[in-house]
Amino acid sequence: MAGEPQDDCLFCKIVAGQIPATIVRETETTVAFRDINPQAPVHILVIPKAHYENAAALAAGAPQLAADVLAATQAVADEEKLDSYRTVFNTGGGAGQTVWHAHAHVLGGRGMQWPPG
Ligand code: C5P
Repeated sequence: MAGEPQDDCLFCKIVAGQIPATIVRETETTVAFRDINPQAPVHILVIPKAHYENAAALAAGAPQLAADVLAATQAVADEEKLDSYRTVFNTGGGAGQTVWHAHAHVLGGRGMQWPPG
């Protein structure tokens, strides 16, 4: 059920402390940790602790939690002293989503191209 921990979800396991992650920030409702395969000098994932399969499901099911995730991306960027950064929510396999627990990528520390690949 949306919002409930899923046994087979990697990010639910990180929230539960069952899989290690380099956590850089935690609030009552969110966790931020360094991506294990960084695509930029700073690459941090911000996730809601509750399980929603993507950003659209999160926004529809828990709008305040979606706002918490967005606020956490800004807090992380501030903590990493990023003047410019990119926030990405991959939604669906065709967009590159591989983990089915909503997450914002915060990418920074280098110049970015547009359009993205
Ligand atoms: O948007 P997408 O679903 O592809 O992003 C998943 C991200 O989770 C990847 O960037 C991957 O490197 C990261 N990851 C991680 N720690 C894990 C498993 C995946 O940081 N244990």
